[in-house]
Amino acid sequence: MDFFFVEYRDPLTGLIFLTILIFIVAVANYAWEFFSKKDKKQKLEQFIKKFEKDTIYKGLFVNERLSLSNLYFLAEIFTKSGEFEKAVQIYLIALEKTKKKDEQEFLFLALAQVYFKAGFLERTREVLFNVLKISPRNKQALKILKIVHFKLKNHKENLEILECLFELGEKVDEEKEFIKALQILECNMNDEEKKQKLVRLQLQENSMLKRLLFERYHLFFEQEFSNIIDLLYQETQPLNIHNQEYREFFYALGKIQDKVMNFHNSHCKMFSILCQNGFKASFEFSYSCTECKSTMPLFFYHCPVCYEFNTCKILYEVKNNENY
Ligand SMILES: [Zn+2]
Repeated sequence: MDFFFVEYRDPLTGLIFLTILIFIVAVANYAWEFFSKKDKKQKLEQFIKKFEKDTIYKGLFVNERLSLSNLYFLAEIFTKSGEFEKAVQIYLIALEKTKKKDEQEFLFLALAQVYFKAGFLERTREVLFNVLKISPRNKQALKILKIVHFKLKNHKENLEILECLFELGEKVDEEKEFIKALQILECNMNDEEKKQKLVRLQLQENSMLKRLLFERYHLFFEQEFSNIIDLLYQETQPLNIHNQEYREFFYALGKIQDKVMNFHNSHCKMFSILCQNGFKASFEFSYSCTECKSTMPLFFYHCPVCYEFNTCKILYEVKNNENY
């Protein structure tokens, strides 16, 4: 040990020893960085090889003069037109071209979105892990991964991702309760046991959870008429008619008999007038995302475009069909 106490020895020997030590550390660090980069490069090459297919377009896209932004532009066009294989090919070529971490993160995320749109959930998950390896706080990647797990019914993993999103400042309380409800629904229990567990969840202010319970078990909890109007349209018996909106709706459908109805809802009024005058009328529904404004023909708990939870707004109109 005395060897390390250079101050007790010849100062020149100590200086030489220190210089050698610094040199060894520098060489070791350089070697570590070199092999680490090589290892990462090999992993990326292996990843690309795994998904890459030789197509007649490959030669075209490999062209040196095609910049990353142009490749991205082309891939986006192919994605929009549903030519997912070409889009994947382009992103893989772009990944080969860049060594910058932020560009790789961006390209992996874009590639994951293509796989997701094409319905390859396992591949989406694998690509997203590459995004999260570069940037564990990438919210967009976590949100897509959440939907992948949602579709694969991996609710435990989904709750873990929601925990990560919570740490990143996202509001996830209602969604967590919703996922817990899905876990209960898929448990090996009888319906009565499931219902008992479901009603113990945090239902307050959770319109999506209330809708789910109404949809699956016809358990009704006081909630906004506008959140379940499409489900109420299927009801054979009137429900919650002490509420004016519900009352007007069921009156218009002819399911309750009031002498006079002072309508506040113009759609219900129109429906009622048409029916009372011998016309055939029906309600038609569509579903719009309040976040990305996409419109869908079916109700969604998670938006299929922007992946947000509880952003579905139910739109409805009265259609006047042919005369009786
Ligand atoms: Zn959306």
